[in-house]
This record gives sequence, C-alpha cells and structure tokens, in this order.
Amino acid sequence: MSTYPVLPTYEEATQPAHNPNYNNQDGFPRHFHNVPNGIPTTVTSTHSTIVVSPVGFGPFPASTQCPYCSEHILTETIEKNGMFAWLLFIALLFFGFWLCCCIPFCVRSCKDVEHHCPECKKLLGTYRRV
Ligand SMILES: [Zn+2]
Repeated sequence: MSTYPVLPTYEEATQPAHNPNYNNQDGFPRHFHNVPNGIPTTVTSTHSTIVVSPVGFGPFPASTQCPYCSEHILTETIEKNGMFAWLLFIALLFFGFWLCCCIPFCVRSCKDVEHHCPECKKLLGTYRRV
C-alpha cells in the first residue's frame, strides 16, 4: 500500500512560501542589509523593463514611441536614394535607356525612407526597397 502526498489547499498553494526577504504587501522582494552602525536599511527592488520592439518602418510616417526621448510620436520621413534607385539606374543604362536612366532618382517609390523623431531629430529606422 502506497501513500499519496497530501495536496495543498488553494490558500496554501497561492500564498508565497515563508521568506523573510519577501514582503507580500506590495509584492516586491525586500533585501535587508545590515550596515556597520547596526541600523538595518531596506532596499526595494523595482525592476522596470522597457521593451522596445523592433519597428518595421514602411514608406509612410509611422506612429511609435521614440526610444531616445520616450515621446509617442509620428515619425518624420526623409527620402534618400538607395540601392533600388541605383540598380534601376544601372539597368536602364545597361539596356540603352540612357536618356531616362535618371528617372529612378526622381521617383518617390524608388527611394529609401529614413524615419526620424520630430522631437529629438534622431534616426529611428530606415525603410529600404531592397
Ligand atoms: Zn525622440
């Protein structure tokens, strides 16, 4: 005949185990440090993790939170000639369209787009065509 372990009740299972460093009033673990003069001090650990998800920017201004100034912003976009425009330029030149080979540098849909924060002006990301 085998004996089964006694399962804890709901209250026992949901209460944290007795731990002198754990204060279940606010849920934060407290660490007690004894300083040389004998007065214990309490240090509360508050771990706040800022998660900045990688934003895949598109060709249009995007609403996001700036990782530099923490403002909720709509990005400013600046179009730059990127790899796609240069590849089209080379392809047009190669196939003999040398009169219109500069068109990719004038067409917005051929350019890369840089996204900047309007508050701190920092570069947040770049949308590349290729
Ligand atoms: Zn910013």
